[in-house]
Amino acid sequence: MTQDSSTAGLVLRTVLHHGVAFRDQIAESTGLSAATIGRQVTSLVRRGLLRERPDCTRSGHVGRPSVPVEVDDRLLAAGAVHIGRLVTTVALTDLRGRVLGVAHLPTRGGDADLVKAAARRLIGLHAGIGGRTLIAAAVVAPWEALDRSPAVAGRTLRDTTTLPTSTADHVAAVAAADLLFSPEHAHGTTTYVYARETVGVATVHDGVIPSSGRRTGSVTHLPTTSDAACRCGARGCLGATVATIGPRAAAAGIVERPDVELVHAAALAGDVDAHELLIDRADHLGRAVAIIRDLLDPDRVVLAGQAFTAYPAAASVVLDAFRRTTGLGPVPITLSRFGAEVQAAAAGAIALGPVYRDPHAALDRHSRLVQRTRNTRRSRSASTVVRLQPA
Ligand SMILES: [Zn+2]
Repeated sequence: MTQDSSTAGLVLRTVLHHGVAFRDQIAESTGLSAATIGRQVTSLVRRGLLRERPDCTRSGHVGRPSVPVEVDDRLLAAGAVHIGRLVTTVALTDLRGRVLGVAHLPTRGGDADLVKAAARRLIGLHAGIGGRTLIAAAVVAPWEALDRSPAVAGRTLRDTTTLPTSTADHVAAVAAADLLFSPEHAHGTTTYVYARETVGVATVHDGVIPSSGRRTGSVTHLPTTSDAACRCGARGCLGATVATIGPRAAAAGIVERPDVELVHAAALAGDVDAHELLIDRADHLGRAVAIIRDLLDPDRVVLAGQAFTAYPAAASVVLDAFRRTTGLGPVPITLSRFGAEVQAAAAGAIALGPVYRDPHAALDRHSRLVQRTRNTRRSRSASTVVRLQPA
């Protein structure tokens, strides 16, 4: 249990990891007493975070039949904004982090304008799915690589949506999403390497996600043997090697626009030139992952982002290049389970973080913000009425 994690949060996370959980299973996993678990489950059910599953009741035991519980994914939702270099992803997720709706907009304009536009899309998505209460939101990005401000983005998202809002580095967010569903990755050290149009690394020790505002290190200018021109003036930086795939494909006439997703689509459709570009990128990425792994020596590596997941033929090239380069022998390497939804799932997990750490505090904070907004609106409309009084 981490420092800021409540007992209710521990129970909620334990149920999430079990799927459907009986109270004695929760007791075994958490070491909490039956009385404590009974109280916590009752209050979490009352607040719409857990629901009972009478259809899964266990019989044949002494005493009352035992009714298990699961995370209630029908009532609440979280808002997720991921700012990428070219594309900003806006999504709604349920309490299990499943994506309920997603929209994309071009990453354009200053932090406040961009996040306001994203928040409007979020509100539109929410209106479209109906019936769920939005309880939290988050905005994540490779802040340093894009020269953007998490403080301005977070404040704008909170003021536009009136929701409790969190911010995080985008790779830390990938780690948070992974840990929600793969609790076994919380033991020991897990290194996450992300690549789409930017690259990034986050390392998690015993389940503790690098917190927002803490510097996470950078692999943007890690040298590779590619000849990609980087904004720093050098050639071959890893960030440039990944970021220039779209422009290179467009310059070569492989795709119409410098959009890396079009390059993935072309390769999947059998375009040989697109295939070669992506295989070349995979080779550089695999070697970079080996260098990162050898520096940090984690217990496992998780690869996330479309540069790893969008073109399956490249995955074996990444692993081959890794094996040829590492000096430390084999290590478990997995691809992120989220595939193309990784940006939405990552930002959603950061929004849900406070809910899973301390659900009662998170919902109380939400209620206070809703109440404050209502009061402000009421006083505004009251002053409008005053002004509309006949002269
Ligand atoms: Zn560079």
